[in-house]
Formats: sequence, C-alpha cells, structure tokens
Amino acid sequence: MKITNVRTAVIDGNFPWVLVRIETDSGITGLGEAYWGAGVAELVHRAKPLIVGQDPTNIAKLMFIMERSLSGEGSQAGVTVTAMSGIEIALWDLLGRAHGLPVSTFFGGRFREKIRIYADCHEGASHEPEAYARRARDVAAQGFTAIKFDLDNANPYTLDLTDDDHSRRQWVEPFNRLIGAQELSWMVSVAAAVKQAVGPGVMVAMDAHWKFGVNDAIKLAQALEPLDLLWLEDPVPPINIEAQRHVTHSTRTPICTGENLYLAQGFRELIEKQAARIIAPDIPKMGGLLEFKKVADHANLYYIPMAPHNVASPIGTVAGAHVCAAISNFLVMEYHAHDIPWWGDLVEGDTLVDGYIRIDDRPGHGLTLNEDVARAHLKKGSSYFGDEPTA
Ligand code: MG
Repeated sequence: MKITNVRTAVIDGNFPWVLVRIETDSGITGLGEAYWGAGVAELVHRAKPLIVGQDPTNIAKLMFIMERSLSGEGSQAGVTVTAMSGIEIALWDLLGRAHGLPVSTFFGGRFREKIRIYADCHEGASHEPEAYARRARDVAAQGFTAIKFDLDNANPYTLDLTDDDHSRRQWVEPFNRLIGAQELSWMVSVAAAVKQAVGPGVMVAMDAHWKFGVNDAIKLAQALEPLDLLWLEDPVPPINIEAQRHVTHSTRTPICTGENLYLAQGFRELIEKQAARIIAPDIPKMGGLLEFKKVADHANLYYIPMAPHNVASPIGTVAGAHVCAAISNFLVMEYHAHDIPWWGDLVEGDTLVDGYIRIDDRPGHGLTLNEDVARAHLKKGSSYFGDEPTA
C-alpha cells in the first residue's frame, strides 16, 4: 500500500478544525485532524511530497522523515508539529481501517470503554460568583462529572488592558503578574461558588492562562486548597521549569500544565522534575497519538496522570480518546462542545453520551464525516479536501 495524496478541509468550528485526509492506491483512506493555527493546512500540503509514495503503515518513520525534513519550518515546536500531528492521526486511522481494528488496539488495548470528559465552561454570564455557580449547575445537570472555569479572564479587579482610568480599579495591572487582595478574594469566591453549586459529585478545575508570577501563584493555589479542586491550570508559564516546579511543590492544589508543549522532548524536563501534578498535552497539536502515548508512559513512571487539553472536532477528540483508553494514567479529557451546537453533527452517529466519549470496535477511530454538515461549515477560502489548501 502506498500513499497517493494528502488533502485538507478546514471547518469553521470554535477554532478552525484542520481535517486531513490521506489517500492510498488501495482505496483505503485515513481521516485526521490538526489543532488550529495560521498556516497549518498549508504546512500539511508542504509535507505531502515527503510522504506520497511511502508505505502509510510506517507511521513512526514517516514522522521522523517529516521532523527532519521540515526542520527549517520549525518542526521541534509550533504549527509545523501541529500539521504533522494531523497527518499522524490520519495515518493511525488508515492503519486501523486497513486491518479492521480500532486505533486503541495498536496502543496496547483498552483500560476503559468510555472516556470521561470535562466541560470547559469559560466564565459566568457576569462576574458575580453566583453567575458562575448557575452555569456550573446547568452543565452538571447535563450529566458532566467534571467542569472547568477560567479564573483570570473576567476578573473585575484587574485593570482592563485598554482602560487608562486607574482610579476606578485597584492598582493591580495585568502586566506584572501580581495578584491584588480583591482579585485574590474574587477568584476564591468564584471557585467556592462553583464547588458549592455542584457538590462533591462533580470535579472542578480552574484555569489561569499563565497569568501570574511564582509567589502570587502559590498564594492563589494555597488559598484554593480547602476547595479540593481537581486542578489549578497554568498559574505560571511552564517554560521556566524551575519556577513551575516551585509553584507545584508549594501547594496541595494540583497544578496542571502542558497545552503549549510539543513532542515528547517538550515534556521531558517537566516530568523528570515532577514540575506538574497533572499533564495536559493537546494531542492533535503536540505530535499526535504515538507522541502522546510516549509522554503518558513517561509521566506514569512518576505516577502523574494525564488530562489532555482538547478543542478539536469529533475527529481529533475521538482519535485522542482511543489512546486515552489505552493508558492507565488517564484522568479526564477537555470538551468544548457548548461553543458549537453542531459539534456532534459533523460525524455520523452519537459520539458523546452522558458526559463521556464513547469508543467502540469500529476500524480506525470509527468516525465517518457528515459531508453536508462539513461543507455547510467549511471555513471561508478553504477547499473541501482539495489538492491545495485554499479553494
Ligand atoms: Mg488552559
């Protein structure tokens, strides 16, 4: 079997979902997805000459070739790795379809038949803690057993980036990574309101999007300790591993990070220094299914669980879920469907049931694109699986 073509279609979801289709001379195709990013579809097409004519079942070798050959495009991190991830996921789907086996089988088989997801709720309708609590109750009533809110974005006590009227708010500005007293107590009130709204049966995580410095991140994490959160995500940027480690080791609130790290090398030091309690790679962004499995297995040597970041369509989500089923140290996977009501309609059949992603024994990731829905939401200017990324 030889690869004959690589095509893309970009769907206008909550983010642009870059779908990748790999075709072969046997007629079997694979469907993958890359995380969004400017130029990702173009980079997939840039990689095409490297893999056309090759045996699609040599997945690790093809990734090696792309990583070497696209080094000038930046294949150690960033959008080039993301483009390669979409190709890699399509290759695993193709392999599964060629052998009549689900993707999970190739990663050692399944620990679980359904993948617990958490609903990313973003913010409350207003900055009142009760507005966050209301949204939490609504989402929990839909059957989700884990939820996440953003603690940073709607904070009324941080100076607006464009607001020069310093008299109306506290002195804390958004650039110096400090947390003011009012801001701290607002964040703790929001987290407490959400926890109280959903009770002990629903796990609650909070995200801070790399906003704070070490000492104030510790202050926040310690103030949240009585709430027993599932995790506090990205209180500091993880690129300084020592700073990240210091925060993680200074609190019993579990610190989670990883959505902007790439390839197994990108996670190595984080894991070896035990600088996070929970690791959140984005599978269609960081290198694909095998690369995620390498990170998960490495993390497991330190008893660190995995909670993949995920903003993908059902294609990237379910493909990732197959590997999540195959690792012992899976915790929970992100889900953004509230942003896009037609999320599940992009594929045939039900993907999401009662707060879980269902996987089964259909070959590959098992999903078939609903072409009408995909075409209806095609991103302006994108081709529908054309030979070029643009229409
Ligand atoms: Mg995050």
